[in-house]
Amino acid sequence: MRRLFVRLVLVLIALVAIGALYAYRQVSTLETERVTDDVHVVFGLGGNVGVLKTERGSVIVDSMTFRRQGAGIREIAEKVGGGPVQALINTHYHGDHTHGNPAFAPGTKVIATQRTRDYLLHFDAPYWEGAAAGTLPNETFADAHELSVGGKTVRLQYFGRGHTAGDLVVLFVEDRVLHMGDLFFNGRYPNIDLEAGGSVREWDATLERVMALDFDRVIPGHGPITDREGLRGFQRFVHELWALAETAAREGKSFEETLAMPGLTADAGYESIGIPLVFKLDRKFVIRRAWEEATGAVSAVEVPAAPVEKQGGAS
Ligand SMILES: [Zn+2]
Repeated sequence: MRRLFVRLVLVLIALVAIGALYAYRQVSTLETERVTDDVHVVFGLGGNVGVLKTERGSVIVDSMTFRRQGAGIREIAEKVGGGPVQALINTHYHGDHTHGNPAFAPGTKVIATQRTRDYLLHFDAPYWEGAAAGTLPNETFADAHELSVGGKTVRLQYFGRGHTAGDLVVLFVEDRVLHMGDLFFNGRYPNIDLEAGGSVREWDATLERVMALDFDRVIPGHGPITDREGLRGFQRFVHELWALAETAAREGKSFEETLAMPGLTADAGYESIGIPLVFKLDRKFVIRRAWEEATGAVSAVEVPAAPVEKQGGAS
């Protein structure tokens, strides 16, 4: 009996060690892929990171989930991005796109929409206390902002609600590459943050405005690099999702009844993402969120406007 117990404990210890090693590897692994000569993507645990090379140094879009990853991203960016980091852009407030920020030098230009800054300070305040506050967005805007760095133009725009009510889209003008942040999950079920103003109803129209831009390649917030057609496919998905939820709400359907309704087919082949027992982004999750929005069961939280340090204009 005693021997069996010792064996069980040993197996348990081994399992925990394997789990820890796996988590450590996940966080340590950063893979870089070339999009154009001057644009690279870094893949890892969290949102996809974009790196632009300019004559004066690099411009980075998002910083992943852990400070450690942020340090790795900074190193990669200095190599493939032509030198020191000139600006860090946060597409939105979620931790898997912003928690690497503190690995950057305080005083680094960090750009986001004003709403994203408000959300960071409202929904994620404890993370940004102390030294981390030095890498909060310090250049914010409402609708549009342009950067000229070392011969490159970076156009940042807010096109409307979707994933949250603060997501910006980044266009690397000369390279014709678009970084969509989490307004686009490629081949995966998206998170829909209704509490932070996210909206399935508005998402389709937001993407339609994005489509008017001049671009060829598209970097999604999660999933592989794609093109216009890939983005169109995701737009069809959000369109169908809203149509389903709207019909269900009009007919007074319960969530369980809504799940059984036909009409959502553009998600064929989509992968779900998640951490067991913590969260899961799957078909059930997106239908639940759309149904909650359509029936009015959940709506956005009132978020106070945070003081602005420096108002961004054209620069
Ligand atoms: Zn997100």
